[in-house]
Amino acid sequence: MTAPDAFLAALADLDLPPEWRVEVAIRPRRRCTGIQVNPGGGVAVLVPPAAAPEQVARFVGNHRRWITEKVDAARRLAPDHAVKEFVDGEEFDLLGRRYRLQLVDGLPASAAQLPLITPDGVLSAQRQRPELVRGAVIGLYQQVGLAWVEREGRQYELDGRIDSLDYVVRDLGRRRWGAYYGPPKHTTTLHWAVFGLPLRLIEYVLVHEQAHATQPPGQAHGPAWQRRLSLWMPDWKQRKAELDEAGRHAWLGDYQPRQPSAQMS
Ligand SMILES: [Zn+2]
Repeated sequence: MTAPDAFLAALADLDLPPEWRVEVAIRPRRRCTGIQVNPGGGVAVLVPPAAAPEQVARFVGNHRRWITEKVDAARRLAPDHAVKEFVDGEEFDLLGRRYRLQLVDGLPASAAQLPLITPDGVLSAQRQRPELVRGAVIGLYQQVGLAWVEREGRQYELDGRIDSLDYVVRDLGRRRWGAYYGPPKHTTTLHWAVFGLPLRLIEYVLVHEQAHATQPPGQAHGPAWQRRLSLWMPDWKQRKAELDEAGRHAWLGDYQPRQPSAQMS
C-alpha cells in the first residue's frame, strides 16, 4: 500500500491550482481512482490501495477540465453567509435600508428603548457582550419585521379572501425563509433574517406565503398556487432567482467576536 504522501508528491508535478486544496484519500474498497469535488470547492482524489502514484496523477491530469468546471460551480453555489462582529460602524441592512451600528453606554435622553434605528441610518444598541448585542439586534429585526408583515400582508388577506390570518416572525433555521401553517394555526411565518434582504425579496417571501394562505387546491407549489402568485407578483420567478443568490450571503445571525490584536510584550 502506498502512503497518501506519495500520491500528493506525484500530483504536485501537475501544478494544480492551490484553491483546489487537493487531498488524497485511500479507499480500500475502491477498484479505480475517483475524484470528488466537495461543497465549497475542495477536491478529494479517492484512490484504491494498489494504485500507482503516476497512474493517479495521469488520471487527475486528464480530468483537469472537468475538475475546473466542478470547482467553479461548487464555489459559485456555496453558502457564504455574512458574519457579524458587533463593533461600532458595522453595517446592518433592515427593510431595504442600511444602518451603522453605534454602541452606547446607557439610554440616550430622547430614546424610550434600545436598540433603535434612526432615519439618518444609525442603529443604536447598548454596549455589552457581543452575543447580547446580537440578541438585541435580532429582536429589533423581529419587531420591525412583524410590524411590516402585519401591515403589508393585509392587502393580500383582503384580495385573497383570507380570514383571520396570524403572523409570526422568528428564526426558521438555515434553509427556509418563510412558512405558512394551515388551520388551526393559519399563520404566515417569516424568518427574521428575511428583513435583512432587499425589499423586493422580502415582498416575494411574504407574497409566496400569502398565496399558500389562500389555500389553493392541488399541490403546495402547484398550478393553482402559481396562478395566485403570478396574479399578485408577475415577476415572482425573477425575484425567486434573486433570492436564491442573495440568500447565500444573507446574515443568519452568525457572529464572530473580533480577535484581540497581537501585542508585543
Ligand atoms: Zn412555499
